[in-house]
Amino acid sequence: MRAADIPDDLTEILVTEEEIRAKLDELAAQVAVDYAGKDLLLIGVLKGAVMVMADFARALPFSVPMDWMAVSSYGAGTRSSGVVQIRKDLDTDLHGKHVLIVEDIIDSGLTLSWLLENFASRGAESIEVLALLRKPAAAKVEIDCKYVGFDIPPEFVVGYGLDYAERYRNLRDVAVLAPHVYA
Ligand code: IMP
Ligand code: MG
Repeated sequence: MRAADIPDDLTEILVTEEEIRAKLDELAAQVAVDYAGKDLLLIGVLKGAVMVMADFARALPFSVPMDWMAVSSYGAGTRSSGVVQIRKDLDTDLHGKHVLIVEDIIDSGLTLSWLLENFASRGAESIEVLALLRKPAAAKVEIDCKYVGFDIPPEFVVGYGLDYAERYRNLRDVAVLAPHVYA
């Protein structure tokens, strides 16, 4: 669905599907140069990063393996708890791999800082982060994110993989959720 299909649930469209595609193509071109000849492994963080991974990985001009990790730091609310739980672990041995973590959004940064530490302890050769969205004003810990799509205001957004209580992931655009939906 597009934002225009559910106008009552949203207050503002922040990034359109077209803008996302163009940005991911741009980031993929950059990653292709940076990782030429390297043993790259993409790690997606479920479930929010599914759409980003699908479009970003397909924009790369070479074959690359993908692995997935499921963690949860949110429950059903709209605020990060800082408590990270592993729900599904990786299938891949990280020794010698150049890992690129693919994320939907960096909000407080707590989830990623935990993941970075966790992956570093597993012997990865290098670890970088690609995030479609980042809320700089919401940062509780600084994350060194090499590839960022868009910086957005510290509002709760949905779409392009991002959910509120498992809804709106299939929205093609990224939009601010109307407060009446979660009030
Ligand atoms: P952080 O630990 O606060 O950086 O947030 C990590 C996770 O919380 C992200 O990967 C998202 O799944 C979720 N999240 C953060 N902000 C939003 C939002 O605005 N909408 C939906 N999910 C969000
Ligand atoms: Mg989520």
